[in-house]
Parts: sequence; structure tokens; C-alpha cells
Amino acid sequence: MASAPLERPTTALDVLRLPLIGSLLKWRWGRLVLQSLLLIVALAMLWDGFTGPDQASRNLATVGAWVHYRGLVIVALLLVGNLFCMGCPFTLPRTLAKRLSTRGGRFPRALRGKWLAVAGLFVLFFLYEWLDMWASPALTAWVIVFYFVASFALEAFFAESAFCKYVCPLGTFNFVYSAIAPTQISVRDPNICAHCEGKECVNGSYSPTPTIHVDQIPVVGANEARAVEVRHTPQGTPGCGTLLYAPQIQSNLDCTLCLDCVRACPHDNASLFARTPARELLGDVWPKRWDVAFLVVALAWMGVTNAFGMVPPVYELQAWLAQALNTDSEFIVLGIIFFVGNVLLPLGTLIGAAALTRWSAGAQHSLREVAGSFAPTFIPLGFGIWFAHYGFHFLIAPLLIIPVVQEFLGGVGEWERYSVALDNEWIGIIQVVALVGSFAASLWLAQRVSQRLYRRRSFQAFVPWALAMLALMLVAWWIFQLPMEMRGVDDFLR
Ligand code: SF4
Ligand code: SF4
Repeated sequence: MASAPLERPTTALDVLRLPLIGSLLKWRWGRLVLQSLLLIVALAMLWDGFTGPDQASRNLATVGAWVHYRGLVIVALLLVGNLFCMGCPFTLPRTLAKRLSTRGGRFPRALRGKWLAVAGLFVLFFLYEWLDMWASPALTAWVIVFYFVASFALEAFFAESAFCKYVCPLGTFNFVYSAIAPTQISVRDPNICAHCEGKECVNGSYSPTPTIHVDQIPVVGANEARAVEVRHTPQGTPGCGTLLYAPQIQSNLDCTLCLDCVRACPHDNASLFARTPARELLGDVWPKRWDVAFLVVALAWMGVTNAFGMVPPVYELQAWLAQALNTDSEFIVLGIIFFVGNVLLPLGTLIGAAALTRWSAGAQHSLREVAGSFAPTFIPLGFGIWFAHYGFHFLIAPLLIIPVVQEFLGGVGEWERYSVALDNEWIGIIQVVALVGSFAASLWLAQRVSQRLYRRRSFQAFVPWALAMLALMLVAWWIFQLPMEMRGVDDFLR
């Protein structure tokens, strides 16, 4: 059977060939500079979190993590790509761990999916709500410490970047939603890869004992074909930590945008290309796996549950549940709400819609294939929900970080001066546009998948997914119409 053609970016724009920005990104220490800047920010957040003011809106840890990081990351994903993973400070001690450790084995096979990451997301969102993390600088600082320790430990024990690929909740969020990004790693000339001996983009050019080999294939763009001498040394560049092979990359899933593949390729063949935003969702490139399918749908529902935790009806529901169960344990009550919202509803959506599709349109595809094919169509809608939510928190106090930093540096915070906020009506309009626009994009993708899988019975296949998306969008819309807690910034705005 002929294999499907690879989905590559088709634009001519090679980001790494842009003046200045290209050389900066490709520079051996380019990522390190970015990471070092974010490491300084992370250390400042830790310091302020443990020693600074208790008031969340005056502390760098809480404002940085829960207001600005989340607002900026979602915009970066939309406009550029996975910039946070590119500059992730948690991977700096990880690199140290890699140097110190004797490269261990691979991550246990049973854990090599997205289930751990899903569990991590569930736990993070639950703890955020249960422990009121947004209000506690010290707890926020402990989360940052946990990240550094976990990343260091996993990197020291395992050969690949297990923390990024299988565990990190922040990275997992970025992996999923970088599907809509306008950039992607690919290669300039696939023929060169076909003859490349070392496949350094994935294998790296690190070797404890220096070796040299010669590739009889040209450097891309060179005027004449010439052999390339490739040195593998202890100073060599690592290959892809998440084990992606550049010429076969069709999606941003698992790509941390570290650009190690670019630096490791001796033929200057791997690069970062501009592409049509969300291009990978137009093709059939996402793996048809239960863990991936559940992750995507659960993340969309987590956006709804997360927002639901900040509007008045959640308190009525909590009171009702507490009375019905005769308990005053918030852990139990909130645990039930989160289990329903973040596990049962996504599971019901995924299995229910897939089963209905098979029942109404035909059973020629397995339940897993149907669920795996349609699940990525929830990515735009999920992104729209998170955009509406994180956008709200960011836009009600976009400059709050300035007086916080002023006070952190020992100066006087100009709170009045920087208390500007976007008008609530405008925020509401942005939220509606984000919800409706992303809903329309998801519907359109779902009908494309229906046509690809079911052709003449595509309408029957499409209806269950369209109804599930409509329900998700309407619940989100209802929540965003309600007065939402201005967590971490409320006393600043008073
Ligand atoms: S991207 Fe570079 S290192 Fe990787 S296979 Fe192609 S030519 Fe070889
Ligand atoms: S090395 Fe892997 S994770 Fe890093 S940019 Fe290349 S493909 Fe992405």
C-alpha cells in the first residue's frame, strides 16, 4: 500500500533564514540565552514567592504565574508557536542532569503515552482550585520548585526528555495547542535526509569518544555537491529530546521548539518553516490513540471546568453536594466536580460521539479510529475556551506586572498609573468572538473528517460531533456571561 504523502509546510518562508532572528535562533547558545532570561525570572518568582508580600496581586510569583504567563503563552501559541517550551527554564537543570548522568534507559514502555500528562493536568487544575494557589505566593513557589526537581530527576534517569514528552502539564498544554501555530519544524530537502548517514537531527552528534564520519551528500544551498565531515564529540549537539525525526514531522505534537535538530543537522537541512495556521489539522496526521484523543477532548473540558470554578453557581453546587453527601470536606466535593467535569464528561463526549457515529454512519472503522480521527477537531474549540478565559484574567490587569516588579526591585509601585484595564464590554466581545470563531473552525474540521471517513454518509457521522461541540461551546458561553472572580488581581482593581 502506498504511504500517504507527508504533510509539510508549503510556504517558502524559512524562519531561520530571516536576517538576525534566524542566526540568533540557530546560534549554539541562542536557546541558552532565552532560557537564562526565563531562569532569572523563575528565580525572582521563587524568591518573591517565599519571602515577598503575602498579597497575591503584589507578589511576582502569583502575578507572573497565574496572570501574565497564562495570558502570554496563549497569544504566543497563536501567533508564533511553542515559545514557552523553547525558553523553558526548567530544562536548564535538566541539561545539567544530562551531563552528570550516565545516559539511562528509555522511559518505561507502559508509561510512554499521554496518560501521565493527563493525570498531571488533572492534579494541577484540581490543586489550583482546592488550595487556592492563585492566592498563595508560597504555594506557587513550591509548584515552581517541584517543576525544577521533577525535570532534573527524570532527565538524570532516562535517555530521552521524558519529563517534557510524558509528564509536564505545561508542555502538554503547549503541545496540543501548538497545533494551531503558524510554524513547524521540517526539512528543506527530503532527498538529503534519505541519504544522510548519521541522522543527527534525532541521534545528535554527542559522543563520549570522538568519531568522524563523512557524508557524501551536499549541504543544502551549497553551489556544488561536496562531502561533509561530521564530527561526533563530547561537545556535540544533542538530538531531538522527544525523539522526533525531522523529515517525518507532520505536526507540532511533542515538539518543544528547542531547535536542537536544526543545530545538530550537519547538512543545514532541518529548519523552522512558516505554514498555514493549524495546517496539521487539515490532514490525517495525529496518532489514533486513546491517550491522545482523550487528552485533546479532556483539555477542552478542563477549560470549561477551570472557568466554572470561578463563577457563582459552583458555590451553590458545592453547597448542594456537601449537604447531599453529608460532608464538609471541600476535597471530596471539589474532587467530585472535577472528576465529572474533567474525566466523565470528556470520556462521555469521546466514546458517546464515536459510538453514535458508528451506529449512524457505519461500523467500518473501529471505535478507536473514529475517536482518534475526530478528537483533534476539538483543538480550535478548546483553544478558544482557554483563550477566552486566560484572556479575561490578562486583560483586566495587563500592566499589573509593572508595579509588582517596581516593588520587587525595592522601588515604589505606581499602582494607580498602571491600573488600566480593557473595558469589560470589549473583553466580553473578545470572548464571544473567540468562542464562536473557534467553534466554527472545529465544526468545519469535523465535517472534513466526516467526509474523509464516511463520504456519502458523512452527515450522519458529523452530527454527533457537531452536537457535542455545540454543547461544549454553549456551556462555556454561559459561564463566561456570569460574573467571574478576578483572581489574583481583585484587590489591585478595588
Ligand atoms: S534533517 Fe539533517 S540530520 Fe536529519 S536526516 Fe535530514 S539531513 Fe540528516
Ligand atoms: S529537536 Fe525535536 S523538539 Fe526540538 S525543535 Fe527539533 S523536532 Fe522539535
